[in-house]
Amino acid sequence: MEIRELTKEIRDKSIKYAKPKELDRLSTSWYQEDLLYSGKGKTIFLILPTPGCSWALGPSGGCTMCSYISDCYLKPIENSKIIELFEKELNKWDYGEDYKNGDKIAIKLFASGSFLNPKEVPKEARDHILNKLANMEEISEIVVESRPEYVKEEVLDEIFDIINDKLFEISIGLESSNEETRLNKINKGFSNKSFEKAIKLIKEYKKNYNIKSKGYIFVKPILTSEQEAIEEAIETASYCENIGMDRVSCCPATIHRGTLIERLWRRGSYQPPWIWSTIEVINRIRQNVKIPALMDTSGFGSRRGPYNCKKCNKELKYRIIDSNFDQSQIEYDCECKKEWVAEVKFSDLNKSKTPIKHLPLY
Ligand code: SF4
Ligand SMILES: [Zn+2]
Repeated sequence: MEIRELTKEIRDKSIKYAKPKELDRLSTSWYQEDLLYSGKGKTIFLILPTPGCSWALGPSGGCTMCSYISDCYLKPIENSKIIELFEKELNKWDYGEDYKNGDKIAIKLFASGSFLNPKEVPKEARDHILNKLANMEEISEIVVESRPEYVKEEVLDEIFDIINDKLFEISIGLESSNEETRLNKINKGFSNKSFEKAIKLIKEYKKNYNIKSKGYIFVKPILTSEQEAIEEAIETASYCENIGMDRVSCCPATIHRGTLIERLWRRGSYQPPWIWSTIEVINRIRQNVKIPALMDTSGFGSRRGPYNCKKCNKELKYRIIDSNFDQSQIEYDCECKKEWVAEVKFSDLNKSKTPIKHLPLY
């Protein structure tokens, strides 16, 4: 299939020309306000150094919009190094003071892929990290990301043996509940059936543990009109609620380097969504579903991200961030809204009629 071959070709090229990475600079962290399960609190966001997402490094070439691999080491990393960098990042933040003042603290561990895949985060390093967090009374919620195929009984048993009753959330990039979109436009490589299998297992573990699941929803994959992107994201949130997930987080497209989405964007065949579309998505999701729904604002207002106009980009970004805390509706107006309304109305007319198989990509 052409999309997969192209993704693989683009991925191989970007890996071939990638500059060698200094291992010590691959971990990073930040600490900020966030919506926790227990309400408004603080979260330590911590990027662990990893060899890279197995899906992106494998024969599929990975997902069409993702270049996390370019921030990875691409070679195995010693457990002791992963642990050292994890501790270094954790020690940067004064969460102890906030905890004493009554704040709830969570940690989100990003592996630029799947935390539950031992090829990306080896068991020994994972155990050490979880042991450390299990013994920290300040941390009440631990959030990780994983593809659904690594959500296995054996791995969950290993994790809960260590963390016991701490809240543990597994975030999974479902991206879209539409299989055609997920498989052929995003190149995600898993079916609804395998995704639902992972969620079913998580639900079984709820009987004994404080386990949660979150679905990432990708807003506006390639070859999708503005209108289709809006409707699919909203449908996906309802699907997540219906199968028993605990919350959803929408990730509007931004143009990562060295991806198929970037190639289409450079050729004028793709544009990230309007910020208005993201507002329509999050407002309607919050009307339709009862689980918390978040909207990520990374890249908003930049050349490679969701964009409205210079007058309202920033204001809307802040309004979305605020609304994530109280799950409120966002009401706003600007002159550029008319253009967006017209684009959504006529987006099917503007959409390329070129079949997926015959994309003019060379
Ligand atoms: S989106 Fe996730 S699964 Fe897809 S290539 Fe990126 S890290 Fe891997
Ligand atoms: Zn505007």
